Amino acid sequence: GLTGQRGWDRAWRDPEPKKSYDVIIIGGGGHGLSTAYYLAKVHGIRNIAVLEKGWIGGGNTGRNTTIVRSNYRQKPLHDLFDFALNLWEGMSDELNYNVMFSPRGALFLGHSDSDMTMLAQRGDALRCDGIDAELLSRDQVQKLIPLLDMSASARFPIHGGMTQRRGGTARHDAVAWGYARAADALGVDVIQKCEVTGFTMDGGRVTGVETNRGSIGAGRVGICVAGNSGPVAAMAGLKLPIEAQTLQAFVTEPIKPMIDTVIMSQSLHCYISQSDKGGIVLGGDPDQFPSYAQRGLPARIEKAAAEAIALVPALSRLRMVRCWSGTTDMSFDGSPIISGLPVDNLYLNGGWCYGGFKATPASGWCYAHLLATGASHALAAPFAFDRFARGATIDEAGVGFMPQ
Ligand code: FAD
Repeated sequence: GLTGQRGWDRAWRDPEPKKSYDVIIIGGGGHGLSTAYYLAKVHGIRNIAVLEKGWIGGGNTGRNTTIVRSNYRQKPLHDLFDFALNLWEGMSDELNYNVMFSPRGALFLGHSDSDMTMLAQRGDALRCDGIDAELLSRDQVQKLIPLLDMSASARFPIHGGMTQRRGGTARHDAVAWGYARAADALGVDVIQKCEVTGFTMDGGRVTGVETNRGSIGAGRVGICVAGNSGPVAAMAGLKLPIEAQTLQAFVTEPIKPMIDTVIMSQSLHCYISQSDKGGIVLGGDPDQFPSYAQRGLPARIEKAAAEAIALVPALSRLRMVRCWSGTTDMSFDGSPIISGLPVDNLYLNGGWCYGGFKATPASGWCYAHLLATGASHALAAPFAFDRFARGATIDEAGVGFMPQ
């Protein structure tokens, strides 16, 4: 820091695109970058480009509320997310980059008997698969988070909760930067300001991409563009079961430590955590109509703030300093797609809705396996594109509203 930022090496190169690559990944978010890293590290494929239309991590990776957990109810989801959680635990060592993974616990509050029944069911399903879940009584929740409104007049009465102590948060930008630097060191070209505008095709198979920096040939192309999945797949003539919706978050001024776990709710779509800098990070519902604007409805922020203050009244004194939005890729069953597509050489990783940050390492691991071998990784096999046609949807959203 005392050098005035002079004489520092670049963390990754700024290469010109080559004429062709073995694999092109479209999208330099966490998922695209982790895919490139595992392709190079695990599968030994080094002739790879990640093409990013803006700057790496400028999409949802750098806009999310950083909650990491694996306590989903459906087996295919909790298996995938728990694999991710295991990778989170070693990520800073793996990348030699501090991603500030903080397993401070991820707690769902239950506000009614029925909430508690659903939390117990989910906890049972998790524990049957060897994944940690603890059902907490009202008293245990109060001890864990003393600032919750547990009074008789509380707007949202608290009956108890369920926590996953291995869950928590991580520094989102560091995840993108860590994967970018590690992939670059293995020879991957991370190319920013390179927007894919079309596909080159030959006899129904993709042979490369058109970009604002010219045509680039590719053996295989992996789409990994989150909220832009629909428009990018449409360039290859495909229509996806994915809708783009705006999701917002906001942060307060920094204060001393007051909340040392992640708070979510089984019934409300409001989630609260405190960043390492001290700001209280809050989020709520998506806008629930299609939009590509990275700007959301003020009413959503108002609702999330009202819910958060009702849960933790001490928050009412804080000033909000920033709010922002991202474009999420909402799939119709609430579960991701990691799959080949009905166009040869073209693959899709998308449909992560509002919860894909926590999947970043597993998503990249499984997508790399698919792009390297042409076959699905066992953990990703249930998330095939054709599951909607087969009626094999994985409907997590249908079993109770799932926040981050
Ligand atoms: P992105 O980071 O969006 O990367 C996709 C990239 O593709 C972008 O950088 C974009 O510029 C690029 N791109 C698009 N089109 C093109 C093109 N034509 N050519 C080249 N590049 C292109 N998840 C959690 O697990 N926990 C949370 O707490 C959480 N909170 C969230 C809060 C908010 C407000 C939002 C918006 C999302 C949240 N999520 C959360 C969801 C999570 O952020 C996403 O699911 C995840 O980041 C998607 O990762 P990605 O790397 O694929 O996407």
